[in-house]
Amino acid sequence: MIIDIERLPRKGLEISRDFEFLSVDLVEENAVFFEPVHVEATVKKIGEEIAIKGRITTRLSFNCCRCLVPFEFPIDSRFDLVYLPEELEEIKEELDSEDMSRLFYYNRKIDLREIILEQLNLTFPVKPLCSENCQGICPVCGKIIKGGECSCVSNKSDPRLDKLKIFIRDKR
Ligand SMILES: [Zn+2]
Ligand SMILES: [Zn+2]
Repeated sequence: MIIDIERLPRKGLEISRDFEFLSVDLVEENAVFFEPVHVEATVKKIGEEIAIKGRITTRLSFNCCRCLVPFEFPIDSRFDLVYLPEELEEIKEELDSEDMSRLFYYNRKIDLREIILEQLNLTFPVKPLCSENCQGICPVCGKIIKGGECSCVSNKSDPRLDKLKIFIRDKR
């Protein structure tokens, strides 16, 4: 969705719409979208500055980086950006304070879709985890570990399991 700076209404532009993205567009290629990305945004021209404020909501799934099981990851993030005309890029150094990076728009246009995609990628966890204390996969049998130790390790020594085995045998 391309925003034409010249045609922005004086009172600003209100946007409320869904965007479809493909997983290959994302930094996290294993991500799967459960629903389109919903965007509520306002675009305002203040002098030559373009202020874009908005909210992105969607639900997607990532693969846990420890146990590899997909888990749901809801996104609800806000952004507040200011774009300057490209002519100002030449004097960028003078504009910038140390910890501020400036954004610029080119050819009097801004691609909202690109902004949404970048914001999405920014909200993703560097190491997606199904839960903080996910124990990952057992190095012995390759199954997912639940509750401290994999059953393949404790199989022989756990009396509770022996009882369970007897119980199952008795039921047959
Ligand atoms: Zn996990
Ligand atoms: Zn195991």
